[in-house]
Amino acid sequence: MLSNLRVGFLVLSASFGLTSLTIAAESDPLPSGKLTFSDLQAQAAKFHTVLALPPFESTPQEVANTTDSTIAAANKALDAIGALEPAKVTFINTIRALDDIAFNVGQVTNRISILKEAHHDPKIREAAIESVQKFDDWSVGLDYRKDVYRAVKAYVDTHPKLEGEEERLFEETLRDYQRAGLDLSEQQQKEVEQLRKDLVKLEEYFQININNARAPIKFTKMQLQGVPETVLSKLKTGDDEYTVDANVTFQALAVMDNAVNEETRKELYILRDNRAKQKNVEILRKVLELRGQIAHELGYKSWADYRTETRMARTGENALQFLEKLKKGLQPKYEAELAEFKAIKAATPGSTTPEVNIWDWRFCAEQLRKQEFNVDSEALRVYFPFDKVLQGMFAVYERIFDIQIREVDPPSKYVDDLRLFAVIDNQTHQPLGLLYMDMFPRPGKFNHFANFSIIDGKLLPTGEYQRPTTSLICNFPPPAKDGPSLMTHDDVTTIFHEFGHAMHAILTQAKFVRFSGTNVPRDFVEAPSQMLEYFTWDKRVLDGFAADYRDPDKKIPQDVLAQLKQADLATKGTEYRRQLSFGILDLTLHSNPTPEQLANLNDFSNHILGEVFLPPDPSTAMIASFGHLMGYDAGYYGYAWADAIAADMASVFEEAPDGFLDAKIGRRLRDEIYAQGNSRDITVSVEKFLGRKQSIEPFLKKKLGIQ
Ligand SMILES: [Zn+2]
Repeated sequence: MLSNLRVGFLVLSASFGLTSLTIAAESDPLPSGKLTFSDLQAQAAKFHTVLALPPFESTPQEVANTTDSTIAAANKALDAIGALEPAKVTFINTIRALDDIAFNVGQVTNRISILKEAHHDPKIREAAIESVQKFDDWSVGLDYRKDVYRAVKAYVDTHPKLEGEEERLFEETLRDYQRAGLDLSEQQQKEVEQLRKDLVKLEEYFQININNARAPIKFTKMQLQGVPETVLSKLKTGDDEYTVDANVTFQALAVMDNAVNEETRKELYILRDNRAKQKNVEILRKVLELRGQIAHELGYKSWADYRTETRMARTGENALQFLEKLKKGLQPKYEAELAEFKAIKAATPGSTTPEVNIWDWRFCAEQLRKQEFNVDSEALRVYFPFDKVLQGMFAVYERIFDIQIREVDPPSKYVDDLRLFAVIDNQTHQPLGLLYMDMFPRPGKFNHFANFSIIDGKLLPTGEYQRPTTSLICNFPPPAKDGPSLMTHDDVTTIFHEFGHAMHAILTQAKFVRFSGTNVPRDFVEAPSQMLEYFTWDKRVLDGFAADYRDPDKKIPQDVLAQLKQADLATKGTEYRRQLSFGILDLTLHSNPTPEQLANLNDFSNHILGEVFLPPDPSTAMIASFGHLMGYDAGYYGYAWADAIAADMASVFEEAPDGFLDAKIGRRLRDEIYAQGNSRDITVSVEKFLGRKQSIEPFLKKKLGIQ
């Protein structure tokens, strides 16, 4: 996962004139041992670069003051652009000035979002929530600042001759305004604005209806046979009465995965996929109509085209074709898995029909994993003590990216166990960026795993390059009283993934904040990190650090690893076909459905789902609780899209002489993907790294297990 507070405006950007990046040749190595921040700053200065640590606010009042002063400064800077005389506009005082503002506001909103997610003091977290709300409200009107747009247009009228990153920034800035409708007539602009307001309200209602849906259902212990005792104890509401809320995912899935009785699974499924049906089918119909209207007013063929324009896919049609291709490629594995499920179902006493229905697949998949791949993933923890994993992972990244990762004494911290690291170029000894690590859970802290960018890379107006500062906020198992923190293999994969996002942020060389680090299209941003997940399945990579902490000579057994992988692949065909059914539904609904299709929206949607995956029961309305349709609309395909690129990129390592530890390929990854960010077309970057055109074959083979 990647988290970046991107208030609407922050996709607007700018840069430093037409100068090229100033990087000094090289310098003496830094002293050994733990580094101080001032050592690093001095070293950074030799390269005409700046390193900075965020001045974390320490009281609610400071948070509020920072918020107000940042907004005031940004408004002043925007006013200055808006007041420019047409004869005085330049790239620097219009296009780049917008990138400068985005950078300045971004540093603050990023920092405050860290306080919101991770500060130990609830009062500071509350102040940060208020601040984020304030920035959000403020950012809403930014795309509609006509005075600023007039200045930008005046610059367009000078017919500037730009190239490279400047040209790209210029074009994307203009595109933002066009997408916001500022090129339309006054009358049309008003219409679009009204349509958008109506849309936002409906989108909110849709989400609220999902959140508020309650679907309790009572079962007896007999009906829940197969569900683990640990779950049952949480559901017990009477003598022989267990209440499952079909709207609470972990409760519903525990039953769908384990209940032997088919009627139980079916009842629960029907209830779950009827959540919010009464209200949300109608709301979705209106939402789809409004989105279609807005897209047409703005000059797009469909909402899917409007949404994908800024992404790698470029058009709804490209995205849909990609999913259709995957659907076809998956067919044989999907069929084979269904045949296995059928045999499992036939052998299960609670079954009422021999067919595998949509309410059966989770149960059958779970049985398959238990029966055929009896892997005890808990037993693997002894191979993964946290500190060893961290050191081992550092060694892998140091080797492939040609860097050193050194611990730094942090001058200030927002919590005690916060650690700070510097990433240093191994050849030139240039500090490339800073990384905070906040790795263990505590009350009130963000409860997932994510990279939060704090200061993005950018060529500053002074001509110095601002090197990035980023942070990983994670929740790995805390150290035990009498032993180390022991990770699962899944945890190890997660840390490789998240650290990949941090590297993406730190290794950037893009001139503008709009393009630097992880500021890349949404259907690509996960791909570099997903690629790094392949590393943790490689025996050689693991042997670098995975050893039984009680007996370090004992490496992780190859057969256990292979079994784990097989179990992972065993049901991928089914899981992915389900994902594809959602992606294809999402794109189809946003590609000009006919009035008849809209009039029969639920039947139409169920039909599409049933073409790709197990047919839904006709009484259900999965669309009514498909939350991704609000916010991730025409974007669900992106999961598979990025996954496919990740597998394609991983295959380059697999085929390299030194496998996943191949330094030459690693360097190419750093230069062609990580350093570039979005400063050039991502497809170009990916193909330069691959050394060939993209292919979905590695994805089908490695990730999905198709032979
Ligand atoms: Zn991620």
